[in-house]
Amino acid sequence: MMTKILKINPLSPEPSKIKEAAEVIKRGGTVAFPTETVYGLGADALNPEAILKVFKAKGRPSDNPLIVHIATFSGLELIAKRPAKSALVLIKEFWPGPLTIILKKKKIVPDIVTGGLNTVAVRMPDNKIALSLIKKAGVPLVAPSANLSGKPSPTRAKDVAADLSGKIDVIIDGGKTRIGIESTVIDMTTSPPTLLRPGGLPVEEIEKVVGHVQRQSMSHETTPVRSPGLKYRHYAPKARMVIVEGDSDAVQSEIKKLAEKGLKDGKKVGILAFHKEFRVEGCITKYAGSRPGTVAGRLFNILRAFDKDGVDLIISEPYGGNGLKLGIADRLRRAAGQG
Ligand code: AMP
Ligand code: MG
Repeated sequence: MMTKILKINPLSPEPSKIKEAAEVIKRGGTVAFPTETVYGLGADALNPEAILKVFKAKGRPSDNPLIVHIATFSGLELIAKRPAKSALVLIKEFWPGPLTIILKKKKIVPDIVTGGLNTVAVRMPDNKIALSLIKKAGVPLVAPSANLSGKPSPTRAKDVAADLSGKIDVIIDGGKTRIGIESTVIDMTTSPPTLLRPGGLPVEEIEKVVGHVQRQSMSHETTPVRSPGLKYRHYAPKARMVIVEGDSDAVQSEIKKLAEKGLKDGKKVGILAFHKEFRVEGCITKYAGSRPGTVAGRLFNILRAFDKDGVDLIISEPYGGNGLKLGIADRLRRAAGQG
């Protein structure tokens, strides 16, 4: 299959190009497009055959449900039963934006979208290209990240092309995504609401509006997985990755020790740093920034760049905290296989 690249102006999307991409969706094809979080691989959320193509192109396990992207409130009405009042308040406050809400689904949503669950994950993205594409297609779109399943998510059209060229119909190139990590996923069918995945919208912001949000236990051996996608290895570079935890000085000397051992064993070693001046002799050091907004924007990019450099072992400084940092720490941990 030939993949067509359509360059579209993110500030003022050309209607003729949006129309061309929307026609592909209407015919049951696949279109990668930018959102404010990461690039998504879009298909008609009401067309099971089109959705099958998304699973196939990504190599995604079929029991991992997809987020449905809408552009209007009538789109929401079409797929979800009437949300509870607290969910409506969240919607009003944060859509369009990096917040995915789990609601009771309507029959029209095919089982392949929800992994057979009676709930559906819904989001209204804050990106002009995404919103105009959904509107023009006239249907809600499934849009999981436009990468091979398990790999770091794409924040630029060229990341999408590296993973999916030849496997999908169209890639819209609308520049770099603003946030860089995926949406926050919150289940509003439970009381209190449950955080299923930290992401672009800090959970503290959500709590200001709806009160306490329970955190899903991260230990999947003891608790059943409420969000099926969480059990899979994710965001992972080819290299083995380790995060060295602890306080700054101890961490840096431990990283140096591990790096020297790796180098002695003939490995190509990468260092993922959150301190600008931190360098290790003989290693490829990449600085992700220290402010969470910067780190979120660079993280997946850097993991992909380590792969390109042929690094065998990535040693990372620790990163975490509240707000956006929680989502970043989650991606980092999963990239290191500590899901
Ligand atoms: P992705 O499309 O890779 O960004 O992942 C979407 C995330 O949303 C996965 O972790 C899914 O497990 C989760 N998700 C999607 N639909 C549902 C649902 N109905 N209930 C719970 N989690 C869901
Ligand atoms: Mg993904």
